Amino acid sequence: MEKNFDTIISGGRVIDPANKIDRKLDVGIKDNKIAAIQNSLADKNSKVIDAKGKLVIPGMIDTHAHVFEHVSGRFGLNPDLVGVQSGVTTVIDQGGPSCMTFPGFRNFISNPAKTNVLAFISIYTVGGLEGHYYPYLYGPGGIDVKACAKAASANTDIVKGIKAHAEPGGISRWGLETLELAKEASREAGIPVYIHLGELWPTEGGIDVDMDARLPEIVALIEEGDILAHPFTRHPGGFVNKEGKLHPIVNEAIDKGVLIDIGHGSHFSFDMARAVLDANVLPTTVGADMHGYNTHVPAEAGTPDEHPDDEMHLFAGQAQFSMCHAMTELMALGVAMEDTIPMVSSKCAEMIGMAHELGTLGIGRTADISVLHDETGEWTLKDNSNVEVKTTRRLRPAFCLRQGEYFEADASILPV
Ligand SMILES: [Zn+2]
Repeated sequence: MEKNFDTIISGGRVIDPANKIDRKLDVGIKDNKIAAIQNSLADKNSKVIDAKGKLVIPGMIDTHAHVFEHVSGRFGLNPDLVGVQSGVTTVIDQGGPSCMTFPGFRNFISNPAKTNVLAFISIYTVGGLEGHYYPYLYGPGGIDVKACAKAASANTDIVKGIKAHAEPGGISRWGLETLELAKEASREAGIPVYIHLGELWPTEGGIDVDMDARLPEIVALIEEGDILAHPFTRHPGGFVNKEGKLHPIVNEAIDKGVLIDIGHGSHFSFDMARAVLDANVLPTTVGADMHGYNTHVPAEAGTPDEHPDDEMHLFAGQAQFSMCHAMTELMALGVAMEDTIPMVSSKCAEMIGMAHELGTLGIGRTADISVLHDETGEWTLKDNSNVEVKTTRRLRPAFCLRQGEYFEADASILPV
């Protein structure tokens, strides 16, 4: 018998910020595309998935992931573990692959994954090995601007930007030269640069780098569409100055069109987040920044044995994490649930120049859909500085459709 839809997601609260939809609706999927969004799609021949009480949103996009598995050491997670098995349909690797290793990323990671895997290519020739553990690999001498821009331009289907750093350890060694080179490659390839803020490496000789003085220099180097990451870092060099207030240059950066990705990771601080949010700065996108040091996955032998980002003993006491958990934390700090949805969908798609393909539930679009539990109860959230925040509402992934294919949210790294 002819059926109108292959699948109907029925009775959920559909939130599609790009199309200004927020109400109870059914979503019909046919031939892996969104075919209808209506009050009630009765079709007894279709597979019906009950989403009553759940949120039905555009397939979530994680703007900051580390999924160069088996190559970037313990750092790189399985793309589907972070992706479809965690309710996320698109993940963007931040700086794993490089001009040298990109073909490996395409063929061994992006192609076989069920998740849509994109990347910001590393400005460094070696790429982001072991969470950039060895600083001497990441100076100007380890950068080939032409090769990076060439690799980016030859792989525009996957490469959406360039990953770089501007943090005290690097600045103590090389000033801002690596960021200048990243901008050169970004201009040549016509894609944005994504800048890690917050101390990553110890400074050379323990010298003090005044990040309050350097942040305006960083902002002066970048332009509209570039992305500042880790505003809420508990390490020196984020958005909060020495006085504990939002650095005034941040509003100038926003005014000139610079975007902000939370890049949660292991250094997210509730106190820093509060200082930034209280100053009326809401980041553009969430970006979970999950990696093998802030989640508990079976360890492959790698180098080194210990890593400064190794927070498993601290991480919310459980070393389990997800995009939804990052959204829950924002909500606990007073951000409306409705405001977190574009931060994991439409705004992410805009950031990577893919709003025409990703980030909404428009009719005729590829059926990338995330369905979330929206729960009430009492929970205590904890960051890695042991600051606790109480919440009464929690989001948790239930399942997703990626190109119409169903995936249960059953990743081992999901908080329970
Ligand atoms: Zn990261």
